[in-house]
Amino acid sequence: MTEAKLTWIEDELTSLKESGLFINLRVIDSAPGAWMQVDGKRVLNLCTNNYLGLANDERLVRAAKQAVDDFGVGPTAVRTIAGTLALHVELEKAIAVFKGVEDALYVQSGFVANQAALVPLVGREDVIFSDRLNHASIIDGARLSRAKIVVYEHTDAVDLEAKVKKHLPQYRRGLVVTDGVFSMDGDIAPLDKIYAVAETYGLMTMVDDAHGEGVLGKGGRGIVDHFGLHGKFDVEIGTFSKAFGVVGGAVAGKKVIVDYLRQKARPFLFSNAVTAADTAGCLAAVKVLSESTDLVDRLWKNTDTFKSAMVSLGFDVGKSVTPIVPVMLGDVKLAKNFSRRLFDEGVFAMALGFPTVPQGLARIRVMVSAALSQGDLDYGLEKFEKIGRELGVI
Ligand SMILES: *Cc1c(COP(=O)(O)O)cnc(C)c1O
Repeated sequence: MTEAKLTWIEDELTSLKESGLFINLRVIDSAPGAWMQVDGKRVLNLCTNNYLGLANDERLVRAAKQAVDDFGVGPTAVRTIAGTLALHVELEKAIAVFKGVEDALYVQSGFVANQAALVPLVGREDVIFSDRLNHASIIDGARLSRAKIVVYEHTDAVDLEAKVKKHLPQYRRGLVVTDGVFSMDGDIAPLDKIYAVAETYGLMTMVDDAHGEGVLGKGGRGIVDHFGLHGKFDVEIGTFSKAFGVVGGAVAGKKVIVDYLRQKARPFLFSNAVTAADTAGCLAAVKVLSESTDLVDRLWKNTDTFKSAMVSLGFDVGKSVTPIVPVMLGDVKLAKNFSRRLFDEGVFAMALGFPTVPQGLARIRVMVSAALSQGDLDYGLEKFEKIGRELGVI
């Protein structure tokens, strides 16, 4: 029996279940390759963020194993006390070179990287201009900073400028922050236009490149490279958990900022350093991408193949310009049912509903990967066609 003081939680869970929004966890029992073992079944993987297939790449695996042999499994200290390994420093240098920035800070995750950067950069007297659809970790970092948050319309630099004109004079300093790639729709921020506004009004600039690194720009150098804006954005947030295939986050950008964050960022000061194995895996990933554009080229080839075939079949794939393919279905129960039927047929693609996406805009989100062969893509497309017809979507 649930204690009286906690019955409200049971009511909340029941209401989630009734509205179809309850999240059921699938359990994975293999590497996240093209095919994986999910809830005891071998299925085609269309939903991890393993864009380049690096998560189980032999070069990364070997580097991580070697690091465990050399350094053990945990640093047992925060970076600022005794947790800074030579590997961390090497990775920070390597990612800075790869992204074409002055310096970088390696933290535990992309989620934490947003807190690490935002909280020291703005405070109560300041204002943050934030895209309406920014990632939850930007929103949380912004809230923690205690700065005033002004939301501008999604990817709308005209609205941004209007809001800046109206609000900036009441504050000490301003900062504009946006996702680079928006992970629910696969559209991208107009960084050139945002930069122009920021330049006019003297705003600090920050972009979260979590889904852009390893995907956009030359050889996956990210969204700033895609727009040719090197040296213009003050802070680039990154993650090693998506295209890089490992785990960890980065705050990359101007040296003066990274120097400051090494003194001030609370996740850096108060939470344990990332393990040697993860760090070595990240380093190996950066090395792979620095040496060749093959994987990124293949990712885009697969993306073009999959997207154009889905459109030919009659699916609405939204406005994505990246390997994220939202298959728009609208109703959350339809999306969940579609996902379940795909799974029966051996295809793993998750349905996303509120609050991850707005009410009424439920979808199946397919993440294309360089790890998929033509045969894998054909298999997935055949099943989408079958279920799409069965459920009256196409
Ligand atoms: C995934 C994501 C994050 C979180 O990255 P983790 O390394 O998984 O914590 C942060 N920001 C954006 C925009 C993301 O898509």
